[in-house]
Amino acid sequence: MYKAIVIHKDEAGYRAGLETLDESALPEGDVTVKVDYSCLNYKDGLAITGKGPVVRRFPMVPGIDLAGSVVASEHPDFAVGDAVVLNGWGVGEVHPGGLAQLARLKGDWLIPLPAGITPRQAMAVGTAGYTAMLCVLGLEKAGVTPDQGEIVVTGAAGGVGSVAVAVLAKLGYTVVASTGRAEEADYLKGLGAAEIIDRKTLSEPGKPLARERWAGAVDTVGGHTLANVCASTKYLGTVTACGLAGGADLPATVMPFILRGVTLKGIDSVMAPRAARLEAWTRLGRDLDMAKLEMMVTEIGLEDAIDTAGRLIEGKVRGRTVVNVN
Ligand code: NDP
Repeated sequence: MYKAIVIHKDEAGYRAGLETLDESALPEGDVTVKVDYSCLNYKDGLAITGKGPVVRRFPMVPGIDLAGSVVASEHPDFAVGDAVVLNGWGVGEVHPGGLAQLARLKGDWLIPLPAGITPRQAMAVGTAGYTAMLCVLGLEKAGVTPDQGEIVVTGAAGGVGSVAVAVLAKLGYTVVASTGRAEEADYLKGLGAAEIIDRKTLSEPGKPLARERWAGAVDTVGGHTLANVCASTKYLGTVTACGLAGGADLPATVMPFILRGVTLKGIDSVMAPRAARLEAWTRLGRDLDMAKLEMMVTEIGLEDAIDTAGRLIEGKVRGRTVVNVN
């Protein structure tokens, strides 16, 4: 028997609760993992609250991330006792996920727990942090270097934003953190932000082209914010877009792209190929200060995950939420 958060959608409505399940409830898969930690991402918030169409099969165990150890394996790369991490691949959406004490998965989805990182730290990073690193790698690969000027991070006090601020600052970039929570200024400066700006300065409809300011950007917000960030990106700068916390629309013009050669680079973590994942996790082990990561973490139990998911979607949760499932 194992405990799990389970989401149902039936004639009684959409609802999530903590349940005790029998191992026969586990899905097909070639590796069974005893979960140590999971975490809450924006997408888990949407899934648990039902505020976004994330879950595509019911009943479903949410949780797009997990870290734990292998208890049974028919996969050649994994043996009993191996420490593993999983991010994405539709887990917690179409395949039962990490907010449970036990999970059965495809071994091809798993990566070995990176050296020097504990299961709890891996979940403090989670999909949010690994996506932040994919954004940083996107900027680097586009040739954005610290000497070119400021990098803006939007939704900075959230999970993706917090990790992006910490990693970019450690790599020597000058980071400007955009947040709606002025009270988190000291937190963001502690992570390495050089300046804090009010997100309202980016969220109202703006001009097609504005004063050139950003050498690069990590945008988690979308909507007018992303349009305005593109409009104020410097000649040949790069904007990485990974989120929609402010909206899925993009009310922009082509002007920044055709007059300033700005690159808009999309970032997806869910189906990212294995090589990109391994690169991101290796770089997280090197370029994310674990003391700063700890500053971002709130630890909760499985029984608290449903309440916290609601607060996360309201933008009231700072940094990263780790779930100790045991
Ligand atoms: P969080 O909830 O932790 O952070 C989101 C942050 O966005 C909030 O903390 C808040 O930051 C800001 N925000 C919230 N609502 C609004 C709003 N209405 N207008 C402007 N800003 C807002 O979420 P995550 O960090 O986990 O995820 C961030 C985004 O990235 C989500 O949209 C998520 O779906 C996406 N994502 C995409 C991935 C991919 O593969 N492409 C992977 C992971 C995440 P503040 O208080 O500082 O203003």
